[in-house]
Amino acid sequence: MIPISLFETAHSSVEFVSRAISALRIEKRAFIDGQYCDTELSIEGKCSPVDGQAIPGVASCDAAMVGRAVAAARRSYDLGVWRRCDRRSILLRLADSMQGMRGELALLDCLETGRALQNYYYDSIPKAIDALRWFAENYVRLRDESLSAPSGVVARIVRQPIGVAGLITPWNDPLVPVMWKLGAALMMGNSVVLKPSEYSSLSVLRVAQLAMEAGVPAGVLNVVPGLGAIAGAALAQHPDVDVIGFTGSSETAGQILQFSGRTNLKRVEAECGGKSAFLVTGRCQRLREAAECLAENLFYNQGQICSAPSRLIIERSVRSQFLPLLVSAAGGYLPGHAFDVSCRIGSLVSRRQRERVQSYLDEGARTATQLTAFSAPLNPLAVAPVIFDEVDPGSRLAQEEIFGPVLAVLTADTFEQAIVLANGTRFGLAAGVWTDCEDEATRAVAELRAGIVHINCYGEDTMEAPFGGMKASGFGKDKSLLAFDGYSLLKTTWQRSLP
Ligand code: NAD
Repeated sequence: MIPISLFETAHSSVEFVSRAISALRIEKRAFIDGQYCDTELSIEGKCSPVDGQAIPGVASCDAAMVGRAVAAARRSYDLGVWRRCDRRSILLRLADSMQGMRGELALLDCLETGRALQNYYYDSIPKAIDALRWFAENYVRLRDESLSAPSGVVARIVRQPIGVAGLITPWNDPLVPVMWKLGAALMMGNSVVLKPSEYSSLSVLRVAQLAMEAGVPAGVLNVVPGLGAIAGAALAQHPDVDVIGFTGSSETAGQILQFSGRTNLKRVEAECGGKSAFLVTGRCQRLREAAECLAENLFYNQGQICSAPSRLIIERSVRSQFLPLLVSAAGGYLPGHAFDVSCRIGSLVSRRQRERVQSYLDEGARTATQLTAFSAPLNPLAVAPVIFDEVDPGSRLAQEEIFGPVLAVLTADTFEQAIVLANGTRFGLAAGVWTDCEDEATRAVAELRAGIVHINCYGEDTMEAPFGGMKASGFGKDKSLLAFDGYSLLKTTWQRSLP
């Protein structure tokens, strides 16, 4: 076990962290029906984006393994074992043991994804733990509804678990989307088969063991690591899965919706990507604050955040003041060594992602004006912040989710034009508007087609508020009491009282 004090002592050098990682006993097998199981295949050849060290090949589940996991989940659900448990106490115990393992979970996620260790330790892992606690503690706030009907009959609308929930999650913040879904699904009384991203499975596999130790019965939580096209597709097509809780790209969400239509019409909750707009209007006076807010929310985690504001829409009247402030703020997000606990920014997740980001950098070099000129990072998988000005609103740079530290700047002559530009992509996850004008703020809230709108701020976060988008950014809601809706069914009952 990695001591929490790793982060609070002088033993925090890159060498010390590397030694701590080599001392970890890494679990890479699937977790089915309460035990780790061997698979015939594993995902070989993975290297850590931090330093290129080989990562043990995690299990690659095929359709048969996924079928075993779904059967175990169905059996446990039908037996009702979990619904009879004190789920609140068990999940709170799991949250406590994750807290105790916080250092180890942070190391595993950092090793696999290249994001800075300190982000995981101080921000991401605590958020995941808080989410689990929140669902455990707030489930009691759900209420059934009773309606009086004529002739002594009472109608009740009761909420019940949906059955077997398949959860499919991304790599960019491995445990947070997992806990946003798992906390709601388990607390509601469902059994779960979880398919983590092939780029970030190790911490999830570790949590499976902690869950068992905390008292989650066999079959209630199963983890099937593997490739999206094989394990993910098998889960999404399985006729005995009742809901897929998905976070990932819009393209994969589209495939999963088709799988559902072609199989059992299972419910699909989809949380997808974005190309979120950050509007700075001519009425904004706090330009420095706005620039710092934009830089922090885009360049944190190398831009690999679904709600990152990757398009700046600036009114012409404040452009020349704002852009130099932004370039200067971006300089605070230069990548370093992800194992260095004093470093805030690590690298991109993989060589593939690096090449993808490069294709946008090449396009920007040809078609736009680059405002930044930071020197290249030591890690070849990391990218220093890039700001492209004079971007064509119809171009790939302005329309596609890059998932890298790359900002497209578009200029508007009026507030109305800024709103049109902001709404001019297929995505609708988040948006931010900086203005000192009350009327502009009110109109932005009404007119922006985004699931989350920030006024004079960005990236605010609490478990009480729902998180989710519209358009190609998806339609589910993670967090808040609304998250239970995704993993429950409403049943209307009519009852005549006995004479
Ligand atoms: P992805 O769509 O490639 O993969 C997501 C998950 O789906 C992975 O587990 C993957 O193995 C699986 N998968 C891939 N193909 C599949 C298929 N055919 N059938 C079933 N499952 C399949 O996305 P990613 O690259 O892992 O993650 C990045 C994306 O996630 C970005 O678009 C990002 O914006 C989005 N994201 C959204 C949120 C949100 O809350 N809205 C949060 C984090 C990430």
